[in-house]
Amino acid sequence: MQQPTPPIRHLVIVLGDQLDLNASALQDVDPHRDVVWMAEVMEESTHVPSSKQRTALFLSAMRHFAQALRERGWTVHYTQLDDADNSGTLAGELARAIAHWQPEALCMSAPGDWRVLQAIQASAKAHQKLLALRDDLSFFTTVRDFAAHAKGRKQLRMEYWYREQRQRFGVLMDGKQPVGGQWNFDADNRASFGKQGPQELPAPQRFAPDETTEDVLALVSRVLPHAPGQLSDFAWPVTRAQALQALDDFITHRLPLFGQYEDAMWAGEPWLYHSQLSACLNLKLLSAQEVVQAAEHAWARGHAPLPAVEGFVRQILGWREYVRGMYWTQMPRYIDRNALDAQEALPEFFWTGETDMACLRDAVQQTLRYGYAHHIQRLMVLGLYGLLRGVHPQHMHAWFLSVYVDAVEWVELPNTLGMSQFGDGGLMASKPYAATGKYIQRMSNHCQGCRFDPAQSVGPQACPYTTLYWDFLMRHEALLKTNPRMAMQLKNLGRLSSAQRDAIGQAAALHRQS
Ligand SMILES: Cc1cc2nc3c(=O)[nH]c(=O)nc-3n(C[C@H](O)[C@H](O)[C@H](O)COP(=O)(O)OP(=O)(O)OC[C@H]3O[C@@H](n4cnc5c(N)ncnc54)[C@H](O)[C@@H]3O)c2cc1C
Ligand code: SF4
Repeated sequence: MQQPTPPIRHLVIVLGDQLDLNASALQDVDPHRDVVWMAEVMEESTHVPSSKQRTALFLSAMRHFAQALRERGWTVHYTQLDDADNSGTLAGELARAIAHWQPEALCMSAPGDWRVLQAIQASAKAHQKLLALRDDLSFFTTVRDFAAHAKGRKQLRMEYWYREQRQRFGVLMDGKQPVGGQWNFDADNRASFGKQGPQELPAPQRFAPDETTEDVLALVSRVLPHAPGQLSDFAWPVTRAQALQALDDFITHRLPLFGQYEDAMWAGEPWLYHSQLSACLNLKLLSAQEVVQAAEHAWARGHAPLPAVEGFVRQILGWREYVRGMYWTQMPRYIDRNALDAQEALPEFFWTGETDMACLRDAVQQTLRYGYAHHIQRLMVLGLYGLLRGVHPQHMHAWFLSVYVDAVEWVELPNTLGMSQFGDGGLMASKPYAATGKYIQRMSNHCQGCRFDPAQSVGPQACPYTTLYWDFLMRHEALLKTNPRMAMQLKNLGRLSSAQRDAIGQAAALHRQS
């Protein structure tokens, strides 16, 4: 096919997390008049120190996607990270492409991140180009839907949003009622593995790197040698076909027990019954609709029980759409919120895993090795430690955005700053997710192999989580007293003598210094 020549009609912008052949921006591409623009830029790997696996996943998936577009006969203006004249920024690469192709207008599906939208809008303005922004169709809802839901409500809660979406899209519904007669099966979904541990865990499907991925792995090792994490275990899906295989593998082998063990942890077992689909979803190799449909279908044909399927659907139709709405309706001020005035630095062991705390060590080491940790590890081990210690939410945010292969700001920020650090003062979570080491003991086997004791808050064996938990309540007692959901925890705090309080305060200070 003959390639378009400048001036063209549309320069169609495709970002690294917009790898969907059905994306709104691609729906009316005319290969004779339009050019697709994609760019690998250093800025995206360094504005936070993106881990090697995260960068490699994005670049490999982008290169495979660009190839799929070329196979359609479309022209793709693609900059590789190590191209000699790569300016290193989205704005710089866009400027070069605009100068070359002289498009009438720029066109794209709405980007996920505020920062990126600002950069592209500024570029369009600087070059006096119209920017056509289209809805991202890979979600069930739009940000406008969320804003309409939020309007006039004193308090936002995911549960109400989720029920509305179940009704609106007819997901797991029997007429106007939820199938099974209840909206929520959380009570069925909190099992631990008990003393015997998980039995015959189904090994998830992993994907050996092909030639394109091998090239990317070599490139990342060469140009980002000091980025966090490792590459030797890279095996993430990087194409649409692989993403569909990963979805099928989850539905077949892990969905039936997903709900029951959703909150459980086990040392040395990173995957358990989780889907590992977040990166595919966030890069748009899969749409939210097709993932939810696949789970619902598994229930309808009797393959997976309702609590498992409802628990899974809740994460995607509920939480995922909710945090996106929260992000876009609260930005840009949201990122600077620090309701608990937490000022501590991030401890160095978040980058190395070198700590005696067995639960944290396991979660950090697994994160650096695979770019993955499941939700309870992120919330109730990694996030919990930061919350209790009083680490600045910006530092926690930067770390979570750096290390996970699924990390994109629109979903990472509300989860980190809001849900796990209570930095937004209660927009995302109705109370801080604060707990002692006993929670970790109940949900995992970590404490069996740890030199600390979760029942002790002071002394040489005191579990740092337990010490810091009481210290956290003491430091924020006045603020937390206004929250009725904290009443029980504060009542227990009230039982401590002033001598016990002093000892805990000293132990917490000592732990911070160490
Ligand atoms: C501090 C913190 C940071 C997080 N950062 C990210 C992030 O950068 N990117 C990201 O996609 N998720 C993030 N999450 C949410 C969640 O932990 C991950 O989506 C999940 O662990 C990914 O693994 P999985 O695909 O195996 O999920 P599963 O347990 O199999 O869940 C299924 C899917 O539901 C969605 N989901 C589940 N929980 C959430 C949630 N709280 N918010 C939004 N979607 C959810 C994901 O798309 C996930 O793939 C974060 C959570 C916390 C507490
Ligand atoms: S004792 Fe404390 S630090 Fe050790 S594994 Fe248990 S919760 Fe983690």
